[in-house]
Amino acid sequence: MKFKTAIEIRTAIENGDITAVEVTQHYLDRIKAEDGKIKAFLETFDEEALEAAKGIDEMKAAGEPLPRLAGIPVAIKDIIMVKGHVASVAANILREHRATFDATAVKRLREAGAVILGRVNCDDAAMGVSTETSCYHPTYNPWDTSRTPGGSSGGSTAAVAAGFAPVALGTDTGGSVRQPSGFCSVTGMKPSYGRVSRNGVLALCSSFDQIGPVAHTAEDCALVMEVIEGRDEFDATTVDLPSTSPPELIQKDFKGMSFGLPKEYFMDGMDAGVEARVREAIELIKEKGGEVKEISLPLTQFGVPTYYILLPAEASSNLARYDGLRYGTRAQSDKLMESYLAARGAGFGEEVKRRIMIGTFILSAGYHDAFYKKALAVRNAMSDEFKRAFEDVDVIVCPTSPGVPWKSGELADDPIANYLADVLTCPANVVGICGISVPCGFSEGLPVGLQFLGPAFKEENIYRAAMAYQSMTDWHLKEPGDKV
Ligand code: GLN
Repeated sequence: MKFKTAIEIRTAIENGDITAVEVTQHYLDRIKAEDGKIKAFLETFDEEALEAAKGIDEMKAAGEPLPRLAGIPVAIKDIIMVKGHVASVAANILREHRATFDATAVKRLREAGAVILGRVNCDDAAMGVSTETSCYHPTYNPWDTSRTPGGSSGGSTAAVAAGFAPVALGTDTGGSVRQPSGFCSVTGMKPSYGRVSRNGVLALCSSFDQIGPVAHTAEDCALVMEVIEGRDEFDATTVDLPSTSPPELIQKDFKGMSFGLPKEYFMDGMDAGVEARVREAIELIKEKGGEVKEISLPLTQFGVPTYYILLPAEASSNLARYDGLRYGTRAQSDKLMESYLAARGAGFGEEVKRRIMIGTFILSAGYHDAFYKKALAVRNAMSDEFKRAFEDVDVIVCPTSPGVPWKSGELADDPIANYLADVLTCPANVVGICGISVPCGFSEGLPVGLQFLGPAFKEENIYRAAMAYQSMTDWHLKEPGDKV
């Protein structure tokens, strides 16, 4: 199929160059033929997807105006509920959990004519950076199938990179959309906290979680955001703000824009190729009229420690509901405590148990003030630091990750190395601002992500920077197998 992006596909359907059924069938065929080596999908919803596509073709035949995402296939991370289908967050304990309703984002996608293609893999309970802790199987990087696609939304980003779907939804609690997007050379975004409803997303860390789109281009991400964002009566943290301009209307140049380059985001031990590609991107921004100034965000060093106090605290509380009685796989015992222990003991993986233990410890009497409250104070201080930075610059520009995709399994026994993989992404979640990762080249054949961070609810700033960058480069158009 010669149409790659959601905008191209939609235009082709609108012009009658291709039907929605042909588009959906193309992706289903590709998944069947090629996903055996990537393992991005857990399941495809063939019948329902083709039925939805047929509905779009009927609208078109009847001369009705087509909705915004007419005929666009979307892959859904296994943490977001699609009515009638399993939603398990790739966690054993929820293997048999079927969604009884559509998440608000999924409902809005359907209303806008999108075709829900299937559910894709992620890390166990969305904790991780490799999509290999999934209770089903690991997912592999389409650029090098001996390597990780990143995580936890590695199924979403591998699916888009491999050409199995033009768009996917992931979730980003500490970097889980941006980090795997960088690793798979696709574009992925974390909206500001409160921009997209979390209704129907299995909760990991409620004050951080956000759904984010993955696509080939920033324009496609903005198009999807236009549909899924906005106030929702089922999530009180969603804000009632006007949506950003449609992607078609966003100015795509750097002129008059100011960029902050935080010196703490270029650290000892980072991959030399990553640093080189990001610095080349910064040179291009300057050359094309952007103003780049070095800034300092000294509290960055507390990002990972703060995240790994607040996240386990919230996650231990959120995961308490999976007791094998109301939710989760029931253990065979008629004694209450035994049944809890058996269901939770078998249902959660090692990393999830580690975080539940850390979280309950942090929240226990005597430690609550020392850890939890202190982390909240640091969170406020970090938030002030970002606010001050954004008084001076429109966008912060930096790498998405300090390294490139590692060999599958290589870091499986090193939790700290896994935590540190989010060092450049988790600060945005701690303070609730928005960010996007765009492909900016390769380091010895492996993808490198460039990250733009913007103030809370100023998504327009990061769209403009990312769209301008993509209008001047073609990294986002490269496909696995291309010479890079
Ligand atoms: N890698 C981070 C973690 O393990 C982020 C997870 C996420 O964003 N869902 O917690």
